[in-house]
Amino acid sequence: MTIIDGKKLSEQIKTELAREVAAIRDSGGKVPHLAAVLVGEDPASQVYVRNKVRSCEEAGFKSTLVRKDVGITEVELLEVVNHLNDDDDIDGFIVQLPLPKHINEEHITLAIDPKKDVDGFHPVNFGRMALGLPTYLPATPFGIVTMLERYGVETAGKHAVVIGRSNIVGTPMAILLSRKGRVGDCTVTLVHSRTRNLPEFVRQADIIVAAIGKPEFVTADMVKEGAVVIDVGINRVDDPAAPRGFRLVGDVAYGEVAPKCSFITPVPGGVGPMTVMSLLMNTLKASKKEIYGA
Ligand code: NAD
Repeated sequence: MTIIDGKKLSEQIKTELAREVAAIRDSGGKVPHLAAVLVGEDPASQVYVRNKVRSCEEAGFKSTLVRKDVGITEVELLEVVNHLNDDDDIDGFIVQLPLPKHINEEHITLAIDPKKDVDGFHPVNFGRMALGLPTYLPATPFGIVTMLERYGVETAGKHAVVIGRSNIVGTPMAILLSRKGRVGDCTVTLVHSRTRNLPEFVRQADIIVAAIGKPEFVTADMVKEGAVVIDVGINRVDDPAAPRGFRLVGDVAYGEVAPKCSFITPVPGGVGPMTVMSLLMNTLKASKKEIYGA
């Protein structure tokens, strides 16, 4: 069994990015610049944004954090988005989700210029992904694809079962695995909250991607011997013995599932760090105008 070490791989990719950015800077080119908009004080969002900004700095990117009060109106937030769309120095930006309930997330996502949508959430980029055109892949699926590629996991002809159909993880993951190409060519089954006999499908999987947000949902009896297991879930469970009173677990019961796997990602230290690196890879693509040209 091989543990796919997302932390180590993300560090390696960060070093590669830093080398490329240093070369760009040395030759007088423009250093990639990522901006992140954070609304309110949600603790998890603050941690995510802090990690993104820190990773940017470590890779030599320029970063800008735009903080807004939880009471900002939708119109005011749209103004922030328009300003970032128009700022030529900013190559790409993200608006950290979730947003406060009085703001319609769809309105904000649609307002982001697809050329700067390094989260890959805009329908134009999502559509390009579905058609196999060059695009900013959504960060978490991009991270998973990169892991499978770098660890040499064979996907062609394999049966992949994706659990969860969210717009940011499950659905794009199912599309990417079914596309033609190196990490692709799978036969894909997408299961979700309305699927009947879900464990029966999961048991048939050569590759399982679990993205539901339910602690330790995938148990050993649902996993075929030799399966590849990608655990996207990040769930807090109470643990009085832990320093902060909780610990993080994935959607997979790691202890009992890992011995059956050929490859597995741990939580933490698996998919999470790769998601941040994908954002940086997309920002570098944006600064090089790789997707949309000048
Ligand atoms: P979401 O809540 O938007 O979607 C969950 C999906 O799971 C839904 O499609 C739903 O149909 C399905 N689902 C829920 N309960 C189910 C059940 N009992 N059986 C079958 N399907 C069920 O979640 P999301 O944004 O896709 O995130 C999923 C998990 O991944 C969360 O724990 C989230 O924190 C984590 N996540 C991690 C990263 C990362 O970088 N590691 C990134 C995004 C999300």
